[in-house]
Amino acid sequence: MVIILKPNPGAAQVESLRKFLEQKGLQTHLSEGSNQTVIGLVGDTSRVDMEMLKALDIIEDVKRIQEPYKDANRKFHPDDTVVTVGDAKIGGGNFAVIAGPCSVETEEQIITVAKAVKAAGAKLLRGGAFKPRTSPYAFQGLRAEGIRLLLEAKKETGLPIVTEIMDLSQLDLFDEVDVIQIGARNMQNFELLRQIGKQNKPVLLKRGLASTYQEWLMSAEYIMASGNRNVILCERGIRTFETQTRNTLDVSAVPVVKHLSHLPIIVDPSHAIGISRYVPPLSMAAVAAGADGLIIEVHNNPACALCDGAQSLTPENFAKLMQKVENLRSVLK
Ligand code: PEP
Ligand code: MN
Repeated sequence: MVIILKPNPGAAQVESLRKFLEQKGLQTHLSEGSNQTVIGLVGDTSRVDMEMLKALDIIEDVKRIQEPYKDANRKFHPDDTVVTVGDAKIGGGNFAVIAGPCSVETEEQIITVAKAVKAAGAKLLRGGAFKPRTSPYAFQGLRAEGIRLLLEAKKETGLPIVTEIMDLSQLDLFDEVDVIQIGARNMQNFELLRQIGKQNKPVLLKRGLASTYQEWLMSAEYIMASGNRNVILCERGIRTFETQTRNTLDVSAVPVVKHLSHLPIIVDPSHAIGISRYVPPLSMAAVAAGADGLIIEVHNNPACALCDGAQSLTPENFAKLMQKVENLRSVLK
């Protein structure tokens, strides 16, 4: 249940309303937006007298909500969440592109790619250090050394870095990482979500390969319920019956999840399609659908990449795509 307060409610009145509700055994979540203040009620609200509440002076309206997520729910938090990372803002009309290789391979590779994507307009650098690979015999990432090299690239270019954590035991290595990525395979690793929610770095939460919007938002809820509200959702394609492409980009996720949640949502066309030639048209589709950003794999030599070369753009093609995205965004304004 959500209680929408009249504009500029007095702090003392809000406090006494919360006390009154808490005495009924309910938890209250206060959310003060720029336009509206709302109180979300968690618990058994079946015996709450909605009409009585509506009659109170400071209350504008009371609504029952069915969704089991509260912190991630737009009904409870009508204003868009804007996540700030360095100079970049994501959400609430702010758009940012994250780009870089699937995996960090060498110092020269990550610094070359970082400089190229920055010159093309990317605001953040991605690069995997801990890689979730289907085969235990495939390249697993440079691990701690990969994070060290990402930090070198950050020093060299000033770009904030985004990299995936696979296990809590790695958390100490993430001290200077700017955005912690939770990959598709870990979207429902609830203990990881809970612990990542206890630290305050922004989290990039990828959608699981076969997860519904509600399951995905419940995972965001785990992070938020632990205290961290800086969650960026990432649609990265889902498993379907199609075998021609790596996954299927669910463009519907962008408008639907934006309606359900105030969290920013970005799109990863690289993992969705798996084939570099189709990354530009999917990126355009994502922008047209209202995505708050893109995360794109770029490699200085895709043919020799240790991971995901087939879906990686060259720096030249990435720069061309950035121009197209810019043009599209200017007509959409
Ligand atoms: C990645 O971004 O490199 C990655 C492994 O993505 P996902 O978890 O979406 O497969
Ligand atoms: Mn990849």
